[in-house]
Amino acid sequence: MIEIASVLVVDDSAAQRMRTVALCRSLGAMQVLEAGDGEQALQQLAQARPLPDLLVIDLEMPVMDGIELIQQLRVRRLHVPFIVASSREGALVSSVEVMARAQGLPVVAGVRKPLSRATLLDAFERCGQFNTPQREAPAPAAAIDAQRLAEAIAQGQIVPHYQPKLDIRTGLLRGAEVLARWTDAQLGMVAPDRFIPAAEKQGHIHALTMSILDQSLAQAARWNARGLKLSLAVNLSPRLLDDASLVDQICGLADRHGVAASQIVLEITESSVVTYLGEALGVLARLRMRGFGLSLDDYGTGFSSMQQLARIPFTELKIDRSFVHGAHRQDNLRVILQSALDMSRRLGLVTVAEGIETLEDWLLLQQFGCTVGQGWLIGKPMPAAELRPWLKTQQPRLNALRAPTAIGAA
Ligand code: C2E
Ligand code: MG
Ligand code: MG
Repeated sequence: MIEIASVLVVDDSAAQRMRTVALCRSLGAMQVLEAGDGEQALQQLAQARPLPDLLVIDLEMPVMDGIELIQQLRVRRLHVPFIVASSREGALVSSVEVMARAQGLPVVAGVRKPLSRATLLDAFERCGQFNTPQREAPAPAAAIDAQRLAEAIAQGQIVPHYQPKLDIRTGLLRGAEVLARWTDAQLGMVAPDRFIPAAEKQGHIHALTMSILDQSLAQAARWNARGLKLSLAVNLSPRLLDDASLVDQICGLADRHGVAASQIVLEITESSVVTYLGEALGVLARLRMRGFGLSLDDYGTGFSSMQQLARIPFTELKIDRSFVHGAHRQDNLRVILQSALDMSRRLGLVTVAEGIETLEDWLLLQQFGCTVGQGWLIGKPMPAAELRPWLKTQQPRLNALRAPTAIGAA
């Protein structure tokens, strides 16, 4: 477990504060500071050296409320991970959580009060990812140079990593999502969230996608030859969907590597389908006719209507991780998750949940009948060479994830 040495609990209710303080102590926090509102919290933070490891922030407080305190943390560049807590409805907590995240603030979780030991423990464990030695807001990422990106693609420096996808009932490996990774000699490891938008803007996304497809199809053929038949999911940028020749290009690559279209799923993000509907429809329909699977990625973050889902020949619905991780402790997320799964089942779609980080996430999805799961609990994206050894060492752990009803059926 991550060591959380000091916590500052900000809450106007003395009773709630005492409860949270006691919980923090029971989880090993050596120093637990208290504040009755945002102003007091800022005073404490001005004096505290080092800064606390974690803040627990109540939303409704007199003088300065939790939202104002969060804004002040940003203005004063106080980079301390925090939990947002409130006894009000889950949607309120979620909206503040989303607001803080959108501003790049280190929000660990949004939780309902009264806090439980399990919730706090979960937050303590997730806190580590925000703790940097200097506790300063990260510098904005430098722009990606178009020339350098083009060279990296041409020289094959952007390579596919593979994140395992498991059958949620049986715990068996079903496939993997292909995720692009770029390690540059000067820039170091560049995240796809940085170079994909750059590639789209600079006109390199076609070359990048073809390179990733080419490499991953070659890999699929190698795995097939060794008896490891995995369904591979490749992300397609919406920018590609207005090019009618895309269908023949993708089919050509699959043929060249001797990989059946049915082994490939193409993931398209929800928002992109709305933006590019006219042109995209024809391309998607033809890809489907050729036998490729089509997945609606990041479901829940855009504006899909049922009608749209029925109109586009999707085979799979991929539920965004913001509805998956933490749904077990948030009523509103749980309801959305369950309805998405119900709807998907009725439409005859495979349901994939992404962002499964904890066993609680996994068990809830199992209970709700989700088909396939992906997330850090199962495994992080990894280079091709690591997948088979990973499977070998992790098999016992994965077996233990299968549902009791599936034992013997797998
Ligand atoms: P995505 O398609 O939604 O992929 C899932 C993202 O969630 C991946 O981020 C993955 O590493 C991350 N992830 C997986 N499990 C967990 C988990 O348990 N918790 C959390 N917090 N995150 C998890 P990654 O690899 O950074 O990719 C980000 C996005 O970049 C992808 O989102 C996808 O939209 C895009 N991308 C990646 N590779 C390609 C590509 O080859 N082509 C295109 N067009 N887009 C790509
Ligand atoms: Mg995806
Ligand atoms: Mg996604």
